[in-house]
Formats: sequence, structure tokens, C-alpha cells
Amino acid sequence: MKNNLFSMVLKQIDIAAKKLNLDENIHVLLKHPERELIVAVPVEMDDGHTEVFTGYRVQYSSIRGPCKGGIRYHPDVSLDEVKSLAAWMTWKCAVVNIPYGGAKGGIKCDPFKMSKNEIQRMTRRYTVMILPIIGPRRDIPAPDVNTDAETMGWIMDTVSMFEGRTVLDIVTGKPVGLGGSLGRREATGRGVMIATLETLKKLGRDVSDTTVAVQGFGNVGSVAANLLYSAGCKIIGISDVSGAFCNPKGLGIPDMLKYVATSKNRLLEGYQGEADDISNEELLQMDVDVLIPSALENQITKENASKVKAKIIVEGANGPTTPEADKILGDRGIVIVPDILANAGGVIVSYFEWVQDIQAFFWDVDEVNKNLNRILCKSFEEVWSFSKEKKIDMRTGAYMLAIERVAEAHKQRGIFP
Ligand code: NAD
Repeated sequence: MKNNLFSMVLKQIDIAAKKLNLDENIHVLLKHPERELIVAVPVEMDDGHTEVFTGYRVQYSSIRGPCKGGIRYHPDVSLDEVKSLAAWMTWKCAVVNIPYGGAKGGIKCDPFKMSKNEIQRMTRRYTVMILPIIGPRRDIPAPDVNTDAETMGWIMDTVSMFEGRTVLDIVTGKPVGLGGSLGRREATGRGVMIATLETLKKLGRDVSDTTVAVQGFGNVGSVAANLLYSAGCKIIGISDVSGAFCNPKGLGIPDMLKYVATSKNRLLEGYQGEADDISNEELLQMDVDVLIPSALENQITKENASKVKAKIIVEGANGPTTPEADKILGDRGIVIVPDILANAGGVIVSYFEWVQDIQAFFWDVDEVNKNLNRILCKSFEEVWSFSKEKKIDMRTGAYMLAIERVAEAHKQRGIFP
């Protein structure tokens, strides 16, 4: 399945193109990434031996603006995965109507088995290897799974050393003291919270009566869980790669956050608070109102979709639901807020960070959150009402709106030469 992610992307494009009655000459363009780069990343490991990692950067589209997308460090990173994530970034930026194309990068590695110095050397070498194609007006990387503000700081510093000046606008998700934006770290989780609350509002549900399970307790999942907890939802299930916990009376999210702040690899493993251990599979099947998959792709599949009991799924992760599972869930009347909308908060605030870096004028956090809220609520409303009007699910609606915008840009620009 893992190596077939891009076939899922193509299927999604085809469905939207058919519904849009898209010109075949544009449709064919949408199915090809503009540029795919594979690089060797040699690293001198702490014990003196040399390891050569494989890195990728795929620029799917720059038709609506500079390419934009995160960098992932994970053993499962492959060209197929990076290409798919780059395509999703393209639709994500289009659905929330920010002036970017889509890209993604990654290195096939296991950062949990590497020292911080090794990760830093790997990051700097990878940066140099992709330097010919990235740039503040061409392609602006950001964090993704197992990369964070510190990683972005190393990338910014490496590019700055090559340029002989400090280049703030080369990456987003940087530390705030290095040209990062206030609110960026929390932005994706905040966006997931906004999308969840907007859905509850549309469905006439009371926030304080809502139970939630969150898969993944990293950047996206932990922030989404905490903000929904603060908004009054009862978070009754949480998992990470080390296992899952549940408490029907509600988990102490602030306490769990405190635990992972100092735990090994920021995992919940060994957490002793008021909670029962369950399996990761059980977490996805919990009897909750809202399920928020915020870990990796391909988590809800045709094998477990019929066992999902949630009434609403808000996709914090990219591609957590396979197309087969999507159909099963849709037939069962489960409302799915698709990834390209639900987790767009991160790229929206990345856009704000880039704008602030270019202006060299920084906003306060209220300004950031106010603008995030404005853009996300507007996009949510567009997707919701378009889907209702066309009697389609939100994913198809979001794809149609996004692909129409990308297609329109192709039409307006034409093919060079
Ligand atoms: P992260 O590395 O901070 O966190 C990932 C979390 O998922 C960790 O808690 C990890 O333990 C957990 N996990 C991994 N495998 C799991 C499994 N099999 N079962 C349960 N938990 C598992 O990564 P992140 O930045 O939070 O990204 C999570 C997802 O959100 C990814 O799909 C990513 O592409 C997407 N996303 C991230 C951002 C962002 O700004 N960071 C923006 C948009 C989308």
C-alpha cells in the first residue's frame, strides 16, 4: 500500500477532473510533478563511519506561486510518498487560496536512532544538495514529521552561509528569534481545532457534549488535543507510536503534554496518569463523536473503516484515509473534513511567516491567529456550502475547488514556449 500512495493521488485528481468536466489538456498537466530531485546525503556518523542517506525534494506545481512544503525524516520516506505529499500541498494551498504551489521533501532515515549532531550534519548536507532548486521565491521548505523549528534553523543557517547574508525567507517554521512567526508551531493543530469546531457548529452539536480521540501526539495532534480540551471537548483517547491511552471520563491533556515535554523521544510511553492502555488499532475504533487522525497516512483502510465508530473525522494528518476507506465511511454517513482543508493551518501561518520575513516586520500572536481564523473559516465555509450545493462529500468538494483554481492558473498562463 505504502508504495501506491501516488496512485491514490491520481485517483483523487481523476474524480475531481471528471466532476469539473476539466479540459483533458489541463487534466494531463495536473498528473505530473514539475520536478523531482533525488540526492545522496553522506554523513559522518559519531562513531566515524560514513552513512549515505537518500533525500528527495519534489516540486509538484509552481503555477500559482512559489512551491511550498515540509521536510520529513522517516524510515518510510520514498519518492512515491514525497511526490504524493507534494501534490497534496498544491491542492492545500489552492483550497485556502494562498499564493503558493506545492512541494515536499524528505530523507529516508530513522532519526530516533541518530544523535542530534548526526541529524544536524545530515540536515545541512541535504540542504546543500537541494540548494540548486530551493529559494525564497522558488521553493520554501517547512517542518513535517520528525523535523521542527531547530531543523529549520539549521537549514536557514546553511543557506545563509552560502549566500553570505542572513536569508530569513528561505524556510518557515523557524525559531521565533530567527525570523519565525509567533503562532506557527501551534498553527496546524489550531487549524484542526477550528475545522472541528466549525463542523460541530454546522451539525448543531454542543462542544461540551463532544468526545474526541486523537491519533498522534506530535506537533499536530498534541496541539489540536490541547486546544479542543481548552474549548470544552472531552478528549477520551490519545495515541502515539509507542501506544494508546483512553479514559471515558476525559484525559488530562495538559498533564500528558507535561509528560512528553521531558520523556524519551517525546513519547507517551510510561505515562502513569489516569488512563487505561489500549492498542493503536482500538483507538481508531473508539466510540467517539470526533476522530482526529494526526499521525501518518494510510491509517483508516478498507480493513478497519467499517469498525470506525466516530461520526466525524477531521484529518490532521495528510492522507490518513485510503480511497476505499473513504467510500465505506461516506456510505455510512460519516462526515470527513479532508486533510487539505483540516490541516491547512500550518501552511497558512507559514505564509504569514514568509510575508513577515520579506517585510522584516513582525506581527503579534493575536494578529496571526485572527488572520488564520479568517482564512480557514472562509475556506471551510466555501468547501461546506459547495459540497452541499453539489451534493458531494467535503473531500470531493475541496478537491474540485482546489483543482479548479490550479487549472485556471494553467489556462491563464498557458504552456511555455
Ligand atoms: P510529529 O512527528 O510531530 O508527530 C507525529 C506523531 O504521530 C507522533 O506522536 C508519533 O509518535 C505518532 N505516530 C507515528 N506513527 C503512529 C502510529 N502508527 N500510531 C499512532 N501514532 C503514531 O509530526 P506532525 O508534524 O505532528 O505531523 C503529523 C501529520 O500531520 C503528518 O501526516 C504530517 O504530514 C501532517 N501535517 C503536519 C503539519 C505540521 O505543521 N507539522 C502540517 C500539515 C500536516
